[in-house]
This record gives sequence, structure tokens and C-alpha cells, in this order.
Amino acid sequence: MPIYEYRCDDCGRAFEMIRGVSESDKEVHCPICKSPKVSRLMSTFSSCQTSDSSSDPSAPSCRPGPFT
Ligand SMILES: [Zn+2]
Repeated sequence: MPIYEYRCDDCGRAFEMIRGVSESDKEVHCPICKSPKVSRLMSTFSSCQTSDSSSDPSAPSCRPGPFT
């Protein structure tokens, strides 16, 4: 089963969850603060990939390129 990586919007902690295909759309709660406000990251490789960020306008704190 795939491992999904999430980041909590409330406490900012990232965590991983193994989810079955049928579970992928279920609500996820942060294991640290129990907040339901979590964002799913693309993969464990890097959370800074921007190729698919169009679906998440409020996304990550990481920016493309060296310009900060
Ligand atoms: Zn949290």
C-alpha cells in the first residue's frame, strides 16, 4: 500500500500514513494535535516539487528556485 505524506496546517508537523486505495479520500487527522486541517504532500522524495502544485494554491512553504 502506498505511503502518503501529510503536513498539518495547524502545527506544521509532517507525518506519514499508509492508506489503502479506498481510504485515500478519507479524512486525515494530525496525530500530534488531532487537527483535521492537513495537506497531503506529493511524496516522500521532496515536498518542494511544483509540477502538481496547481491543485494546491495555498501550498508549502518551499519555493522554487534560489530566490526567496
Ligand atoms: Zn497538527
